[in-house]
Amino acid sequence: MTTQIEAARNGQVTPEMTSAAMGDELTANEMMEEIAAGRVVIPNNSGRKARHVGIGMGLRTKVNASIGTSSDIIDLKAEVEKAIAAEEAGADTLMELSTGGDLDFIRREVLGAVNLQVGSVPLYQAFAEAVKKYHDPNKLTEEMLFDVLERQCADGISFMAVHCGINRLTIERLNRQGYRYGGLVSRGGSYMVGWMLANGKENPLYEQFDRVVEILKKYDVVLSLGNGLRAGAVHDSLDRAQVQELLINCELAEMGQEMGCQMMCEGPGHLPLDDIEANVKLQKRMSMDAPFYVLGPLTTDIAAGYDHISAAIGSAEAARYGADLICYVTPAEHLALPSREDVVEGVRAARVAAHVGDMVKLKKTSRDRDMAKARRDLRWEDQFSLALFGDKAREIRATRSPENEDSCTMCGKFCALDNVNHFFAESLQNGIKG
Ligand code: SF4
Repeated sequence: MTTQIEAARNGQVTPEMTSAAMGDELTANEMMEEIAAGRVVIPNNSGRKARHVGIGMGLRTKVNASIGTSSDIIDLKAEVEKAIAAEEAGADTLMELSTGGDLDFIRREVLGAVNLQVGSVPLYQAFAEAVKKYHDPNKLTEEMLFDVLERQCADGISFMAVHCGINRLTIERLNRQGYRYGGLVSRGGSYMVGWMLANGKENPLYEQFDRVVEILKKYDVVLSLGNGLRAGAVHDSLDRAQVQELLINCELAEMGQEMGCQMMCEGPGHLPLDDIEANVKLQKRMSMDAPFYVLGPLTTDIAAGYDHISAAIGSAEAARYGADLICYVTPAEHLALPSREDVVEGVRAARVAAHVGDMVKLKKTSRDRDMAKARRDLRWEDQFSLALFGDKAREIRATRSPENEDSCTMCGKFCALDNVNHFFAESLQNGIKG
């Protein structure tokens, strides 16, 4: 199996590159060059057909939605509905993160329900299986762990968050630091730290990194280096433990690329607004511009119920400075398993954030300019088609019909635009370039 990065380094344009390039207004050849340099990845699985997207430098910021059962709520039908809703709401990728029920069956059902590339966190299933078998996550064996990686790849997973960067050094740094306001919030990360301490062993995903890479390479899967020690509170942002793991992940990203695997690094988490630029630049610099996948980041810890907004603010800032894939956050974050409606709200908030970031990062502003003109000219149908969520805009307007069809009920007959257009329409348009 030749991976995308191996093909790119041989100067070969693959069908996946051609297809992903179309969604990003660049040529397949340009896409190939970016992949060869390790700056772009295309989540893929040689055994599954789904829509391809590129993630990385110079490309539109992509949005990931995560779904999955928990040990408390196991409802396969609901998870499949959420996956479909996420795709319809415009998610670019999906992560299937179930921890409750028949995990193989659930994953296969979700993979069959969407046309998106699907990611996973194999540690969830590995520890869940150890609990089921031994009633103790720390009894997880290395063979069980690698078997889960292989099984998930064989099922069609296209990108995998693997916590390779947690090693003895990372734990030592955390110990020396001696505090953490938010503790460890990564499920995979906290269980791996527990396993290492209980067994007195190095992380097999770090120690046998080449084995991880070989499994993923067999299926052309992207290895996304998990951020197990990410800050889970803004007061832990950029602490030494997190930076230690990031440093190791950046080293591993380079090693994995040299071994012919597509590589991506994951980031926080929770970050105050003024730490985001540094975080993105640090990852980009230390990994030679490997794609960066951020989870939010949430910019305050006190917005429960509105964490999708807290995260959208952080995502826009992260995208602006170069983050390539943002994981949505839903209004249920920190509170409960998200509902279908939460998923839709989360995807939409993240898409707004990605666009806001891309307006600066990629100078993508023409749609906003066209919307300004459509608003000025009170062209409502054009406004609906230019809006990110035209259906929502149309629905709100339809619920409050104005007396004058040209305006809206906000100002009614005192519509400023309608008023000014009678006097200045021509002169306002004359001065416009583009
Ligand atoms: S009524 Fe007010 S808010 Fe509505 S289109 Fe006119 S100026 Fe804009």
